Parts: sequence; structure tokens; C-alpha cells
Amino acid sequence: MDGRVWTVGRSVELAAVILALALALAPLPARLVERWFSSGVYPLLERALTSVSNLLPFAILDILLAGAAIALAVTLTRAVRESSRSRSVGPLLRAVAHVAAAAAGVYLLFLLLWGFNYRRVPMPERLMLERAAPSSEDVAQLGLRAVDAMNTTYAAAHSGPQPVPEWQDPDLLNAFADVQRALSDTAPVHAGRLKRTLLGSYFRWTSVDGMINPFGLEVLANPDLLPFERPFVAAHEWGHLAGYADEAEANFVGWLTCVRATPPAQYSGWLYLYWQISAEVNDRERARLGAALATGPRQDVNAVIARLRRGELPALQRASWKVYDEYLKANRVEAGVRSYGAVVTLILRARFENGWMPVRRPAPPS
Ligand SMILES: [Zn+2]
Repeated sequence: MDGRVWTVGRSVELAAVILALALALAPLPARLVERWFSSGVYPLLERALTSVSNLLPFAILDILLAGAAIALAVTLTRAVRESSRSRSVGPLLRAVAHVAAAAAGVYLLFLLLWGFNYRRVPMPERLMLERAAPSSEDVAQLGLRAVDAMNTTYAAAHSGPQPVPEWQDPDLLNAFADVQRALSDTAPVHAGRLKRTLLGSYFRWTSVDGMINPFGLEVLANPDLLPFERPFVAAHEWGHLAGYADEAEANFVGWLTCVRATPPAQYSGWLYLYWQISAEVNDRERARLGAALATGPRQDVNAVIARLRRGELPALQRASWKVYDEYLKANRVEAGVRSYGAVVTLILRARFENGWMPVRRPAPPS
């Protein structure tokens, strides 16, 4: 082994670990992240990466995960063998150091490709807010509005021709671009194709509807999603692709996108909001909302419940959401998975014009 190469390699590894720790802990001003990353380099990256990943029918994440698993297995097996041959823990310790450095490198890549979006200017500071915190009656009224919209759009949402895939639906794409322009001065990012993944079974067992792969800026979807669930899941994940990392903000973008598009997308968006509000109100209010659903929408809601029950493994589901909660908190989303529900507060507090177009605050003097 060349001693100097080894030393240089070790210095690079150490630097990666130190840099990763520093970036994980360092406070970065949100305005700086917003200007340089979220509205600066990130949208360029997204347009490049997502347009490539949209060409591929398979998930880049599957390849990356398989590669990482093989590399990890080979490194550790080799180290264990060498350690037992030389009767010393040295090779094993060095392997662990390599793995730690690789993990630091992956974290740095995560931040640079997408993760810094967790630290951008939060939505409530971006928007004109009109009202104080909503009352539980406001929430219930919004739920009834969702039910009413589901009842009205149900027929149109279920009778049209075979829908085109979400990422090729011009109305949904236009709506997504409009929403992005309402929220930021940056040119809109690309929408991502909904892909199947080897993680599909995991999604099924843990009731995850979808996720983005931050290393390929692509959208991975639960394979069991019902047709009327897909537009909202797509638009929610596109919200993440647009750099709205926070779950409530992605829900906000997804919902705003859907309600501006065709009836099937509108239905999907309102169904999502109904679902979200049902989870947040008390039993009496939930029963009131359920009773207001017409037969068709009620059947759809029951079909979603049946889909979730068929797939889920409760213990794994709890564990997985716990891990995600920790992940969100590590990325400074204090509310963890509860941040999903904050979308209702956003919808009830924001000022809207032209239908559901949120109004932005004037930019602060720079
Ligand atoms: Zn999400």
C-alpha cells in the first residue's frame, strides 16, 4: 500500500466527516439558503436531474440502494476476514472508519442535492396571513367544504377517458407551474414521473403513499394507490421537488395544484384534505363530515381504508413513522410527522385571490 495515498485518503475522509458534522449543526440563515440554494442553484439541479430521471422507467434509487448494500457487504466481509487472519481489530476499525466517512459523504450529497431546502424560508413567512390561528369550527367548516367539493366533482372525476400519466397531464403541469410562480420568483421546476420501486412492498406495509429520491430527484409511488389518489400524491411529491421539503408545505403545494387542475385532480385534492381534516377533528365532527359524504365519495374513502388495511404491518408501520419522525426532527422540522397536519392551518390562515391562489408578502428590502 502506498503510504502517502493512504494518508491523503484518510485526510479526505476526516474532512468529509468534519464538514458533515459542521453543516448538520451550523445555523444557516433562512434568507441565505432561500436565495443561494432554494431559489438559486437547486432549481437548476432539479431541472437537469429530473429531466434525466424522467427518461428512465426504473427508479435510480433502487440502483443506488443495491450498490450501497453490495459495497457495504463487501467492505465489511473483507475486513472481518482480514481481522481474523491477522488476529487484529485494525482492519475492522479501518473499515468502520471508511463506512462512517462514506455516510458523511452521502449526507453532504443529500444536503447539496436537496436537503438544504429544509432550511429555507418557511411558508408562513412567505405568505400574507390574514387570520389568527383557526378555531376547531373553522377546521370543521373547511372539512365540510372539502366534502361538498368531493360530492360535486365525483361524477366528472370518475367518468372521463382513461387519464394520461400525471407527469404528462398538461392541466396538472400548468397548475403546478402556476402554484410555483405564486410562491416564488424562481422559474418553475419539472414535475416527476411516478415510478415503481423495489421499496414498493415497504410502502405497502408502512402505509407510505410516496417519496422523492433526493439523490435522483425522482418520485417513487406506492404501487397500490387508487386512481383517484394519484394526482394528489403526484402533486405532493412535486411540491418536494420544487424544494418545499416540509410535509405541510408539500401538502399545501399539492392541494393548491390539484384544485386548479381538471375535475379528477380536484377530486383527488379535496379527498386528501377531507382525509387530513378527518384525522384532526374530534369523533363528533368526524361523524358529521362522514355523514355529509355522498355515496360515491364514501365508497372511495372506504376503498382507501381497505387498501391501507390490506397492506399494513402495524408494528413495522409504527417503527417506520417513528424513524421518519426522528429524521424530520434531525432536519429541524420541530413538529416531526405532525407537520403534515399544519397544512390545514396554512389553508385557513393564508390570503387567497383568483380562486385558491395564495398571495405572497412583499419581499423584504435586500
Ligand atoms: Zn412528503
